[in-house]
Amino acid sequence: MYLYNSATRKREEFIPNHPDIVKMYTCGPTVYHYAHIGNLRSYIMEDVLEKALRYAGYNVKRVMNITDVGHLASDADTGEDKMLKGAKREHKSVMEIAKFYTDAFFEDCRKLNIKRPDVVEPATNCIDEYIKIISTLLDKGFAYQAGGNVYFDASKLDRYYIFNDHDEEDLAVGVREGVEEDTNKRNKNDFVLWFTKSKFEDQALKWDSPWGVGYPGWHIECSGISMKHLGQDLDIHCGGIDNAFPHHTNEIAQSESYLGHKWCNYWMHVHHLNTNSGKMSKSKGEFLTVSLLESKGYDPLAYRLFCLQSHYRKNLVFSFENLDNAVVTYGKMVAKIAALNPKDEGELDQAAFDALREKFLNALNNDLNTSLAITAVYDALKYKTNDRTKLAVLADFDRVLGLDLIAKADKKRQEMAAAPKAGSFAIVSEAGESDPAVEALIQARQDAKKAKNFAEADRIRDELKAQGIELTDVPGGVKWKRV
Ligand code: AMP
Ligand code: ZN
Repeated sequence: MYLYNSATRKREEFIPNHPDIVKMYTCGPTVYHYAHIGNLRSYIMEDVLEKALRYAGYNVKRVMNITDVGHLASDADTGEDKMLKGAKREHKSVMEIAKFYTDAFFEDCRKLNIKRPDVVEPATNCIDEYIKIISTLLDKGFAYQAGGNVYFDASKLDRYYIFNDHDEEDLAVGVREGVEEDTNKRNKNDFVLWFTKSKFEDQALKWDSPWGVGYPGWHIECSGISMKHLGQDLDIHCGGIDNAFPHHTNEIAQSESYLGHKWCNYWMHVHHLNTNSGKMSKSKGEFLTVSLLESKGYDPLAYRLFCLQSHYRKNLVFSFENLDNAVVTYGKMVAKIAALNPKDEGELDQAAFDALREKFLNALNNDLNTSLAITAVYDALKYKTNDRTKLAVLADFDRVLGLDLIAKADKKRQEMAAAPKAGSFAIVSEAGESDPAVEALIQARQDAKKAKNFAEADRIRDELKAQGIELTDVPGGVKWKRV
């Protein structure tokens, strides 16, 4: 498999560190609000990556954090604690907010066929891990205490910026416009590992530490959780592109300084879902959720298809018009699969299966080219082989695509069987009126005729006549009128 590695800015062959396992880590949600469909674009594409690795034959262990502490409104460790903000907004405790929005997140994932990672770890579960790393960083001289907090000293690194070529001044945390400068920091890129003094006296969650009662910074969470469950190295780390700086940059700084060696080989970043007014974000207030799409009648899997239609390294513009196009594509795709015969008893055409599978796999192996992988679905539908093979191939592709293609097609077939067919029995009033009692009797007469119970059919005709209703049999149905 070839993947674009944001750390080297090159498309590289993916070679895991260990033959028996791929260690994958993905940054999880900050659970102070619903995930918006932009966040979910990242999780959909990470899900596709995990499934593509498994499809290619790798054994994957995937770990994800749940950020329930330490993430401040600005990634530069200033501003209000996001969890506290959510708790205040809803007059609930931080833990109540965390539980509610964690459950809501996994419910959204279920609707979007995003598999739950093998390990999901709330940040508040791993305080001992953070303390261990921070203590070592202090011992090794990579961290210092100032104003009650513990900071990572970015000046100790030969290379701090990993993901960007930009002018350091442009990106430097603490000097970006709108970001308050923390005067405790020795260098502009230093970041907080442990807070004991923040502006919030009412910080809800605090733990004892060698540096006083406090709470961890956001960045240390991912290093600690990853090392707890995946050990001292990592094959692939994912997140949205906004996580590259400073979050992932800081994760690398602290992890490699702590370990004394390289930590993670491949970095995969999903680009943003934008609206016409820019990046969709939770802090902007107004944002689109899966429930909102559902309330407007959209199938969440149409949104999944919408995401798969474009490459994860391109910004994607959301509009309802674009989503409507995905709905149409999805409907057509399902209708084509529904037209295949699920009872086809032909032999599985292994040569066709392998050829189609190879095409699909090649698309995924090419830096997760999901739109090309979708064209492989159409290739399968058109391929000169039997329906049994086509259905087997499509079920196989759906292990990665996650569009419920087979189940949706089965449902579609059932709906088509239940729907009245052209030329079926119609009951029409000549006056254009609707009378359920009369219609029920006419239907009963028709049923009797079908069952060859002509005496009963005549009896019903007489009963209707006594009510002043006259019937005329016409091709495909009955016309009735009052006389
Ligand atoms: P958060 O819950 O804010 O920590 O973000 C969860 C994930 O969503 C992170 O990987 C972010 O990088 C990612 N993300 C945030 N906004 C967007 C967006 N508009 N489009 C795609 N991914 C996003
Ligand atoms: Zn993270």
